[in-house]
Amino acid sequence: MKALITDPFINGRSLEPKESNLFVQTNPANEEDFAEVQAAGLGELEIAIEGAQQAFEKVWSQCTPNQRADTLFAIARAIRNDKDTLARWETQNIGKPFQDARDEIELGARIFEYYAGAVGKYFGHTIPVSRKGLNMTLREPLGVVGAIVPWNFPFPIACWKVAPALAAGNTVILKPSSLSPLTALSLGQLAIEAGLPPGILQVVPGRGGLIGEAMTKHPLVKKISFTGSTQSGARIMELAAPGIKRISLELGGKSPNIVFADADLDQAAAESPLSVFANAGQDCCARSRVFVEDSVFDEFVERFIASTREIRVDDPTLAATQIGPMISKNQRDNAETFIQGARDAGRTIACGGDRPFERGFFLNPTVILEPETNDPCWKDEIFGPVVCIRRFKDEDAMLKEVNDTPYGLSGSIWTNHLNRALRVARKVESGVLSINTHSSVHIEAPFGGYKQSGIGRDLGMHALDGYSEVKNIFIAES
Ligand code: NAD
Repeated sequence: MKALITDPFINGRSLEPKESNLFVQTNPANEEDFAEVQAAGLGELEIAIEGAQQAFEKVWSQCTPNQRADTLFAIARAIRNDKDTLARWETQNIGKPFQDARDEIELGARIFEYYAGAVGKYFGHTIPVSRKGLNMTLREPLGVVGAIVPWNFPFPIACWKVAPALAAGNTVILKPSSLSPLTALSLGQLAIEAGLPPGILQVVPGRGGLIGEAMTKHPLVKKISFTGSTQSGARIMELAAPGIKRISLELGGKSPNIVFADADLDQAAAESPLSVFANAGQDCCARSRVFVEDSVFDEFVERFIASTREIRVDDPTLAATQIGPMISKNQRDNAETFIQGARDAGRTIACGGDRPFERGFFLNPTVILEPETNDPCWKDEIFGPVVCIRRFKDEDAMLKEVNDTPYGLSGSIWTNHLNRALRVARKVESGVLSINTHSSVHIEAPFGGYKQSGIGRDLGMHALDGYSEVKNIFIAES
């Protein structure tokens, strides 16, 4: 890869915007500005969309499946070759511990490989119908797809939208968050170096309210694949309505972590803290509401706090660091407001609640014990390293509380009783559940939310349904 790209990457090259509008990139670990990225204006967006439409009609839709698959495999190799550089930029840009950043870049490469392999395995069907003849379905690409992504897992989320969209034969306009544009711009350049023809993947940093909204309204953009807050998702749905635009939305969460008395408490207490504190709690799947069965409450909480105190919060470039800073001062202020609210209401802050360093947007992992169910820290998505723990005695009453939220993205259940695990898993209103683990994201399996956590599914073969139309053809037989 050549140098860091800081202009919109359109039609195979950096395009300097007509009007300068800089996003200053601040390293959240030391609060120092280290790069400036030019936001695209509406003019550059128009060039990107027109170019993507041309590339769709003249190039990508004319390629054979093998040519598409080979290109996606080549992009995966290019990503892997530049893993360390990409990971360093991610760490500098958003404060993610370097090892986590490396794992996420590797995940991005694997996602491209998965969808390269999927190109020839995604097809229509022949269907017996009641008239004499042959009925078949075709899977056809939509055209230009807009992918709008957040800052918390910028690279893997960009990859899990771009790769299936390209595999299904679409061209893509990728809009990263203004807080984390660097690896998205690099992906655009790497794809070109790997042999993807110009125009097929355009990368346009820009403000959500300008570029994101203009993309959503644009008649040539046939689908918006969005990950971000529920509030922005609702706005996209509204803007997409007049054109009946296809949308998929991956939104916020307030996921439960349910610990029964018969669980392996050692494992549950050892693994649960990082299920909410990893990525400084800035994770849509964060298990931020813990429900612990009464008879083991004290024991579990003691072990949970002991494990939490062992977590190393430090400079994200150090190998031993498990949690780095939060993305920004605003994000930390927001988390601290929730903590202060809990303090003011007289709740027990069992650990954390303070900053480990004066410099950088760090916040120690914070455990709030037994808040009320209408406390903001229990109800709202905090998107920071803050967890609330409550006890339960009765399974049905606990499940009512678990489901008493507009969200339904993820969750964990800890029990060694198989029937209980399945019974409870069926009753939790959530798109993704893990039993005796916290693992939520698998490249091969669908990922997405119930209720206000979203519409549609990313990942797995399910994602391809969202990037194609089904055409039914019937041939009469005489
Ligand atoms: P955000 O909604 O502020 O921004 C996400 C993206 O949308 C950014 O690229 C932003 O520029 C753009 N955007 C903002 N307003 C827009 C608008 N009106 N029209 C079009 N685009 C717009 O979210 P964020 O702060 O970047 O990310 C945090 C949120 O994302 C949290 O709520 C988190 O739960 C959610 N998230 C969900 C998932 C998931 O898979 N469900 C994954 C990661 C993050």
